[in-house]
Amino acid sequence: MAKMKAVQVPKAGADFEIVEREIPQPGAGQVRIRVQACGICHSDVVTKEGLFPGISYPRVPGHEVAGVIDEVGAGVTAWKKGERVGVGWHGGQDGTCLACRRGDFVNCANGKICGTTYDGGYQEYMVAPVEGLAHMPESLDVAEAAPLMCAGVTTFNALRHSGALPSDLVAVQGIGGLGHLGVQPKSSERMFISTAPQLTLQPSCRNWAARV
Ligand SMILES: [Zn+2]
Ligand SMILES: [Zn+2]
Repeated sequence: MAKMKAVQVPKAGADFEIVEREIPQPGAGQVRIRVQACGICHSDVVTKEGLFPGISYPRVPGHEVAGVIDEVGAGVTAWKKGERVGVGWHGGQDGTCLACRRGDFVNCANGKICGTTYDGGYQEYMVAPVEGLAHMPESLDVAEAAPLMCAGVTTFNALRHSGALPSDLVAVQGIGGLGHLGVQPKSSERMFISTAPQLTLQPSCRNWAARV
């Protein structure tokens, strides 16, 4: 069996450890992803410290995954080898519970969380159910795409459900790992940054602030 490197949490509250594991095989309804990038989210602490009930250890965290489908499991017809995909916090749903039948997959009674209820992206290869996949355009760099799978979609959903339309004035409170993804400054826009000491800013925000 071919081996790969993985970063796992051996038990709740323990330090990360780099281990060698067998490359996992996708089961029915699953694909294997060759991970190219994985963002680090503060919510990884849920897995690190055991803050979610029933986590099985050792567990590989990581729910901001960008990569390429490397193998498909039985019954998978809509996804093919070589397709670029991402996996985020919402790692799949059962499709049968009351929430799912209402189309509210995020609140599935048996929802899966990538990197918490199954092994996530802190490894060279991972397996994910097809319900948890998002297509990733060729134009997106993997390192830029990965954080969009959690921090980006969280900010995007906040903005698109806010009722704000293009050209409206909005305020983003907190320009950190999430907030800076909600800001897309152009040279013609005014931006006022009020923040904690400059050293806490993301590097990209420091560049924007320098332009104001
Ligand atoms: Zn996250
Ligand atoms: Zn469900």
